[in-house]
Amino acid sequence: MGRHIGPVCRLCRREGLKLFLKGTRCDTPKCAVERREGVPGMHQFRRGKASEYSIRLREKQKVKRYYGVFERQFRKYFDLASRRPGNTGDALMALLERRLDNVVTRLGFATSRPQARQMITHGHITINGRKLDIPSYLVRPGDQIQVKDREHSRKLAASNLSAEGMPPVPEWLDRSGTEPPEGRVSRLPGTQDISLPVTPQLIVELLSR
Ligand code: SF4
Repeated sequence: MGRHIGPVCRLCRREGLKLFLKGTRCDTPKCAVERREGVPGMHQFRRGKASEYSIRLREKQKVKRYYGVFERQFRKYFDLASRRPGNTGDALMALLERRLDNVVTRLGFATSRPQARQMITHGHITINGRKLDIPSYLVRPGDQIQVKDREHSRKLAASNLSAEGMPPVPEWLDRSGTEPPEGRVSRLPGTQDISLPVTPQLIVELLSR
Protein backbone atom coordinates (compact mmCIF):
# COMPACT_ATOMS: atom_id res chain seq x y z
CA MET A 1 0.00 0.00 0.00
CA GLY A 2 1.19 3.49 -0.72
CA ARG A 3 1.50 5.91 2.11
CA HIS A 4 1.07 9.59 2.75
CA ILE A 5 4.46 11.08 3.63
CA GLY A 6 3.47 14.73 4.09
CA PRO A 7 2.28 16.40 7.30
CA VAL A 8 -0.76 14.41 8.41
CA CYS A 9 -2.31 17.20 10.46
CA ARG A 10 -3.00 18.99 7.17
CA LEU A 11 -5.31 16.12 6.25
CA CYS A 12 -7.39 16.72 9.38
CA ARG A 13 -7.45 20.46 8.81
CA ARG A 14 -8.56 19.91 5.21
CA GLU A 15 -11.49 17.84 6.41
CA GLY A 16 -12.18 20.09 9.42
CA LEU A 17 -12.29 16.98 11.58
CA LYS A 18 -9.98 15.10 13.91
CA LEU A 19 -8.86 11.95 12.08
CA PHE A 20 -6.61 10.76 14.96
CA LEU A 21 -3.53 10.12 12.84
CA LYS A 22 -0.97 11.07 15.49
CA GLY A 23 -1.88 8.95 18.47
CA THR A 24 -1.94 10.58 21.90
CA ARG A 25 -1.05 14.02 20.53
CA CYS A 26 -4.53 14.19 18.99
CA ASP A 27 -6.09 14.52 22.45
CA THR A 28 -3.87 17.38 23.54
CA PRO A 29 -4.15 21.14 22.91
CA LYS A 30 -1.34 20.68 20.34
CA CYS A 31 -3.85 19.21 17.88
CA ALA A 32 -3.75 21.33 14.72
CA VAL A 33 -7.53 21.21 14.25
CA GLU A 34 -7.96 22.93 17.61
CA ARG A 35 -5.11 25.38 17.17
CA ARG A 36 -5.70 26.59 13.63
CA GLU A 37 -8.91 27.43 11.88
CA GLY A 38 -9.52 27.04 8.16
CA VAL A 39 -8.21 24.62 5.58
CA PRO A 40 -4.47 24.49 4.83
CA GLY A 41 -2.92 26.50 2.02
CA MET A 42 -3.59 29.91 0.54
CA HIS A 43 -7.08 31.42 0.50
CA GLN A 44 -8.04 29.29 3.45
CA PHE A 45 -10.98 31.50 4.42
CA ARG A 46 -12.00 32.49 0.89
CA ARG A 47 -13.77 29.36 -0.29
CA GLY A 48 -17.22 29.72 -1.79
CA LYS A 49 -20.27 27.57 -1.19
CA ALA A 50 -19.49 23.87 -1.46
CA SER A 51 -21.00 22.11 -4.49
CA GLU A 52 -23.01 18.90 -4.20
CA TYR A 53 -20.05 17.07 -5.72
CA SER A 54 -17.51 18.50 -3.30
CA ILE A 55 -19.67 17.63 -0.27
CA ARG A 56 -19.69 14.00 -1.42
CA LEU A 57 -16.01 14.02 -2.29
CA ARG A 58 -15.08 15.34 1.15
CA GLU A 59 -17.07 12.55 2.83
CA LYS A 60 -15.13 9.98 0.83
CA GLN A 61 -11.79 11.63 1.60
CA LYS A 62 -12.56 11.68 5.33
CA VAL A 63 -13.15 7.95 5.34
CA LYS A 64 -10.10 7.13 3.21
CA ARG A 65 -7.82 9.24 5.38
CA TYR A 66 -9.22 8.03 8.67
CA TYR A 67 -8.71 4.36 7.76
CA GLY A 68 -5.49 5.02 5.79
CA VAL A 69 -6.79 3.56 2.55
CA PHE A 70 -5.88 4.78 -0.93
CA GLU A 71 -8.22 5.18 -3.89
CA ARG A 72 -7.75 1.85 -5.60
CA GLN A 73 -8.21 -0.16 -2.44
CA PHE A 74 -11.16 2.00 -1.42
CA ARG A 75 -12.88 1.19 -4.74
CA LYS A 76 -12.35 -2.49 -4.07
CA TYR A 77 -14.08 -2.14 -0.70
CA PHE A 78 -16.89 -0.28 -2.41
CA ASP A 79 -17.29 -3.03 -5.06
CA LEU A 80 -17.34 -5.65 -2.32
CA ALA A 81 -19.89 -3.66 -0.30
CA SER A 82 -22.15 -3.09 -3.31
CA ARG A 83 -22.41 -6.87 -3.81
CA ARG A 84 -23.54 -7.39 -0.21
CA PRO A 85 -27.25 -7.47 0.66
CA GLY A 86 -28.59 -4.41 2.48
CA ASN A 87 -27.33 -0.86 2.59
CA THR A 88 -24.09 -0.41 0.61
CA GLY A 89 -22.85 2.54 2.69
CA ASP A 90 -23.22 0.61 5.95
CA ALA A 91 -21.56 -2.46 4.41
CA LEU A 92 -18.65 -0.30 3.24
CA MET A 93 -18.08 1.17 6.70
CA ALA A 94 -18.36 -2.26 8.32
CA LEU A 95 -15.71 -3.64 5.95
CA LEU A 96 -13.31 -0.80 6.76
CA GLU A 97 -13.95 -1.21 10.48
CA ARG A 98 -12.95 -4.87 10.22
CA ARG A 99 -9.45 -4.07 8.94
CA LEU A 100 -6.79 -5.50 11.23
CA ASP A 101 -4.99 -2.14 11.66
CA ASN A 102 -8.26 -0.58 12.81
CA VAL A 103 -8.96 -3.46 15.19
CA VAL A 104 -5.47 -3.26 16.73
CA THR A 105 -6.06 0.47 17.33
CA ARG A 106 -9.53 0.01 18.75
CA LEU A 107 -8.25 -2.64 21.14
CA GLY A 108 -5.75 -0.06 22.40
CA PHE A 109 -2.62 -2.01 21.37
CA ALA A 110 -1.65 0.98 19.19
CA THR A 111 -2.43 4.67 19.64
CA SER A 112 -3.20 5.34 15.98
CA ARG A 113 -3.91 3.45 12.76
CA PRO A 114 -0.53 4.36 11.23
CA GLN A 115 1.19 2.97 14.32
CA ALA A 116 -0.98 -0.14 14.23
CA ARG A 117 0.01 -0.71 10.60
CA GLN A 118 3.66 -0.50 11.53
CA MET A 119 3.20 -2.89 14.46
CA ILE A 120 1.49 -5.42 12.18
CA THR A 121 4.09 -5.24 9.39
CA HIS A 122 6.88 -5.51 11.98
CA GLY A 123 5.42 -8.74 13.33
CA HIS A 124 4.19 -7.54 16.75
CA ILE A 125 0.70 -8.97 16.24
CA THR A 126 -0.57 -12.54 15.84
CA ILE A 127 -3.99 -13.75 14.73
CA ASN A 128 -5.23 -17.05 16.15
CA GLY A 129 -1.68 -17.80 17.27
CA ARG A 130 -0.10 -17.18 13.86
CA LYS A 131 1.92 -14.18 12.73
CA LEU A 132 0.07 -12.09 10.16
CA ASP A 133 1.70 -9.00 8.63
CA ILE A 134 -1.21 -7.77 6.48
CA PRO A 135 -2.84 -4.59 7.89
CA SER A 136 -5.81 -4.94 5.51
CA TYR A 137 -6.75 -8.42 6.79
CA LEU A 138 -10.50 -8.43 7.56
CA VAL A 139 -11.17 -9.94 10.97
CA ARG A 140 -13.99 -12.42 11.50
CA PRO A 141 -16.05 -13.26 14.58
CA GLY A 142 -14.03 -15.52 16.85
CA ASP A 143 -10.61 -14.26 15.71
CA GLN A 144 -8.08 -13.87 18.52
CA ILE A 145 -5.76 -10.88 18.12
CA GLN A 146 -2.72 -11.10 20.34
CA VAL A 147 0.43 -9.09 20.91
CA LYS A 148 3.40 -11.32 20.14
CA ASP A 149 4.90 -12.97 23.22
CA ARG A 150 8.30 -11.29 23.17
CA GLU A 151 9.66 -8.53 25.35
CA HIS A 152 9.79 -5.71 22.80
CA SER A 153 6.24 -6.33 21.57
CA ARG A 154 4.84 -6.60 25.10
CA LYS A 155 6.52 -3.35 26.20
CA LEU A 156 5.27 -1.48 23.15
CA ALA A 157 1.68 -2.61 23.66
CA ALA A 158 1.82 -1.96 27.42
CA SER A 159 2.95 1.63 26.92
CA ASN A 160 0.19 2.20 24.36
CA LEU A 161 -2.44 0.63 26.61
CA SER A 162 -1.46 2.91 29.47
CA ALA A 163 -1.45 6.05 27.29
CA GLU A 164 -3.83 8.80 28.40
CA GLY A 165 -7.01 9.51 26.48
CA MET A 166 -7.33 6.09 24.84
CA PRO A 167 -10.98 5.52 23.84
CA PRO A 168 -12.88 2.53 25.34
CA VAL A 169 -12.90 -0.80 23.51
CA PRO A 170 -16.01 -0.99 21.28
CA GLU A 171 -18.75 -3.50 22.07
CA TRP A 172 -18.00 -5.78 19.13
CA LEU A 173 -14.50 -6.48 20.51
CA ASP A 174 -13.37 -7.95 23.84
CA ARG A 175 -10.03 -7.28 25.43
CA SER A 176 -8.62 -9.52 28.12
CA GLY A 177 -6.11 -8.43 30.73
CA THR A 178 -3.75 -11.30 29.93
CA GLU A 179 -0.03 -10.94 29.38
CA PRO A 180 0.68 -10.45 26.50
CA PRO A 181 -2.58 -8.56 25.89
CA GLU A 182 -5.18 -10.25 23.78
CA GLY A 183 -8.44 -9.29 22.08
CA ARG A 184 -11.27 -11.21 20.49
CA VAL A 185 -13.83 -10.34 17.82
CA SER A 186 -17.19 -11.15 19.41
CA ARG A 187 -19.36 -10.15 16.44
CA LEU A 188 -19.27 -8.17 13.20
CA PRO A 189 -19.43 -4.37 13.63
CA GLY A 190 -22.78 -2.66 12.98
CA THR A 191 -23.63 0.92 12.04
CA GLN A 192 -23.73 1.87 15.73
CA ASP A 193 -20.08 0.79 16.08
CA ILE A 194 -18.63 3.16 13.47
CA SER A 195 -16.60 5.84 15.22
CA LEU A 196 -16.28 8.32 12.35
CA PRO A 197 -19.08 10.93 11.98
CA VAL A 198 -19.76 10.62 8.24
CA THR A 199 -22.79 9.95 6.05
CA PRO A 200 -21.91 6.81 4.03
CA GLN A 201 -24.87 7.37 1.70
CA LEU A 202 -23.08 10.42 0.24
CA ILE A 203 -20.09 8.23 -0.65
CA VAL A 204 -22.39 5.72 -2.33
CA GLU A 205 -23.96 8.52 -4.36
CA LEU A 206 -20.52 9.74 -5.43
CA LEU A 207 -19.15 6.35 -6.44
CA SER A 208 -22.35 5.16 -8.13
CA ARG A 209 -22.34 7.98 -10.67
FE1 SF4 B 1 -5.33 15.29 13.29
FE2 SF4 B 1 -4.15 14.26 15.41
FE3 SF4 B 1 -2.93 16.21 13.99
FE4 SF4 B 1 -5.09 16.72 15.52
S1 SF4 B 1 -3.05 16.05 16.21
S2 SF4 B 1 -4.73 17.44 13.46
S3 SF4 B 1 -6.31 14.84 15.23
S4 SF4 B 1 -3.44 14.11 13.30
